[in-house]
Amino acid sequence: MNALSTQAQQSLQRLLTQFGLSLETGDTPCSNWIGGELMAGQGDAIELTNPATGEALVSYRDAGAERVERAVEAATQAQTEWMALTASERGRRMNAAVRRLEGHEEALAQLESVVAGKPIRDCRGEVGKVREMFEYYAGWCDKQHGDVIPVPTSHLNYVRHVPFGVVGQITPWNAPMFTCAWQLAPAIAAGNGVVLKPSELTPFSSVVIARLLEGGGLPKGLINIVNGLGPTTGAALTGHDGISKLVFVGSPESGRLIAEAGARRLVPSVLELGGKSANIVFGDAKLDDAVAGAQAAIFAAAGQSCVAGSRLLIQRDLFDAVVERVGRAASQIAVGLPGEETTQMGPLQNAQQFERVTQMIQRARDAGARIVTGGKRPDNLPADADGYYLAPTVIADVDASMEIACEEVFGPVVVALPFDDEADAIRLANATRFGLAGAVWTQDPARAHRVAGQLRAGTVWINSYKAINVMSPFGGFRDSGFGRSSGLDGLREYTVAQSVWVETAPEASVAMGYGDGKA
Ligand code: NAD
Repeated sequence: MNALSTQAQQSLQRLLTQFGLSLETGDTPCSNWIGGELMAGQGDAIELTNPATGEALVSYRDAGAERVERAVEAATQAQTEWMALTASERGRRMNAAVRRLEGHEEALAQLESVVAGKPIRDCRGEVGKVREMFEYYAGWCDKQHGDVIPVPTSHLNYVRHVPFGVVGQITPWNAPMFTCAWQLAPAIAAGNGVVLKPSELTPFSSVVIARLLEGGGLPKGLINIVNGLGPTTGAALTGHDGISKLVFVGSPESGRLIAEAGARRLVPSVLELGGKSANIVFGDAKLDDAVAGAQAAIFAAAGQSCVAGSRLLIQRDLFDAVVERVGRAASQIAVGLPGEETTQMGPLQNAQQFERVTQMIQRARDAGARIVTGGKRPDNLPADADGYYLAPTVIADVDASMEIACEEVFGPVVVALPFDDEADAIRLANATRFGLAGAVWTQDPARAHRVAGQLRAGTVWINSYKAINVMSPFGGFRDSGFGRSSGLDGLREYTVAQSVWVETAPEASVAMGYGDGKA
């Protein structure tokens, strides 16, 4: 074990202890937050490696089915308590809860940076998002008005938006704090109890967040975090009878399994899945902006972002110039240790992802694609940085049917494809099984709206990329999933409409059928 690894382990252990995730047996932290208590898992050991060095970091135990059982029980009880409060009181408590993060932001960011391998400055930004999401949804607690429907009978008919009860949530490793808060906040604002399973690769930050929040006045057990593997802890959650709705953020492959598990119990799901988003640069675009946008679109978070602009579509007469400029900008990105303030791009999060991405690049090379820049470990990494680093990679001379142009890479890899005209750009952009996001760069406003309107993507940016806010709905088409998160649409996913009929005539008259016009 080298010095850096020892340092990372020590730093992680210090942070875990600081957050009360007591280390039971040397290096096995309590990794579940259930019914207001920290609990160890009961399943097999899960070993985490340090993304920055590839060496052992820490191990913890898979939660297992019994822990899930306890979590669902706790959430069921707490949800009744939560709904017994007035809506305004729930909002006040959510606001008070999120204030409990104050003073812990930097430690939370450091914890995530070590475990997820993300640049510390990105992690600080993510902590800020947690706060923003809770504050936004706290405001919705007492604004979930129902409707009065002008039915053609003597009834008063009103509609309430009621919570499901207990919802099950499953999140991935690429933005663990963001996705945790993104789904927790609307779920409890809508009146639900929650059992959330983070990715087995980034287990701790969700526990810390839940624990801090509950200390701010949320009922014990309203938010439960169970950590473990998909096929064990995850499957116990999706198959549990006490769960009335499933919300999943992750890959299309796992998303199918979650939707199937839900369907077997007739439980609805929301799926926030992957993407292969098209970033379209027209000949009349402001090129400096388009190049900066293309770079941010794919290389932020080392491309491990669902909305990554992984297909750069460039109008043919500008193709070579834009590819050259994006390649040059890519080669200047500061790749380095996640904890360094100057690092713009860290390693990939795990060995499996690194293998997958490098193999996809190799297959693209074998199929005749040209690596404009990157495609290998970056030069000039610090001596101890033996982890899963890959240089920002730009690939050209790609056929649109190649794997690298069709499949989600989920790494810092962009393919550049030329197009001839507007119709060609739209055809290429939509020639994908995904439909998460897309962008259009042009100075012609009419064209911008025309093209945006024809993209089959849940989010479209015009002369921008990655602008995302909790106020605005987010989600996909096709293999990018269904349902929406954020905004009022995201809140509504956590409620069901209940229609209440009140007879207002002096005497009740209940119809036997539709024939007498009373029903
Ligand atoms: P993944 O699908 O491998 O895992 C996601 C989660 O599902 C993990 O918690 C995992 O343990 C769990 N899981 C896996 N199999 C399961 C099963 N059978 N039952 C229950 N749970 C199971 O995804 P990942 O590799 O962690 O994340 C990367 C993917 O997530 C990419 O495709 C990315 O685009 C997508 N993503 C989408 C969004 C979005 O909002 N659309 C956001 C972030 C990431």
